[in-house]
Amino acid sequence: MKLGLGDELAEVGVPTGSMNFTDRFGGTILSLPRGRFAGYNWPQYSVHRGELQMLLLSAVRGRLGAGAVRTGLRLEDFEQYEAGPAGPAGVTVSLRDVRTGGHLKETAGVLVGADGIHSAVRARLHPGDGPLLWNGIRMWRGTAEGDPFLDGTTMIVARRAKRRRPATRGSRHRPPAVTTRSHAVPSPRSPVTRAGPPRRRLPGAVPPAG
Ligand SMILES: Cc1cc2nc3c(=O)[nH]c(=O)nc-3n(C[C@H](O)[C@H](O)[C@H](O)COP(=O)(O)OP(=O)(O)OC[C@H]3O[C@@H](n4cnc5c(N)ncnc54)[C@H](O)[C@@H]3O)c2cc1C
Repeated sequence: MKLGLGDELAEVGVPTGSMNFTDRFGGTILSLPRGRFAGYNWPQYSVHRGELQMLLLSAVRGRLGAGAVRTGLRLEDFEQYEAGPAGPAGVTVSLRDVRTGGHLKETAGVLVGADGIHSAVRARLHPGDGPLLWNGIRMWRGTAEGDPFLDGTTMIVARRAKRRRPATRGSRHRPPAVTTRSHAVPSPRSPVTRAGPPRRRLPGAVPPAG
């Protein structure tokens, strides 16, 4: 399904020309064209996640009305009910207002559980599944703004040292951001205590938010 947001997306995103994998000295190991440059019908964009989310929010409010998105409500439970004399089938959703702590219920024809990897909807549908399997790797991330490099549309994934991997990309309204990731030592029994943030920071790096 087309959302019809191509022009707006082109406004905030950079059409990624290629993705380069480099060694720690910047030497290209592999360069792969992306999006239209690779022959696809659609561009691939590098875009700041917040700008993409605000674009989508604005489109939803513009098409469905200003009250279509309500924030600060956590889904805690839901009940499905069958069609009957009172009306068609639907779902009653139990919500908690995270600001007031108050509880409220809403009814709807359909519930779409788009509540992420720790989905409360999935847990309710599949209570026997248990917690997620952790892969043993904790990733830390920081960003720093930098000067444009190469042709300004290239994303690089550069291996700096064992278990370190900076990825670099930009967005239309922001300078390229250098993102560093470092993997913690795999530790299935104690993921929190064995993990630690990178010891060295890039100049101007912004500490991770959480
Ligand atoms: C550090 C990091 C970097 C990433 N980088 C990339 C990347 O470069 N490119 C890429 O394609 N993917 C990337 N990903 C993966 C991508 O972010 C996820 O695949 C994607 O966000 C999943 O989208 P989602 O809508 O399913 O869930 P989410 O984006 O997690 O959204 C779930 C939403 O539901 C809300 N929510 C949760 N529980 C409840 C509840 N009980 N009631 C109400 N609301 C609830 C949350 O607050 C959240 O707003 C990255 C992920 C991480 C963690």
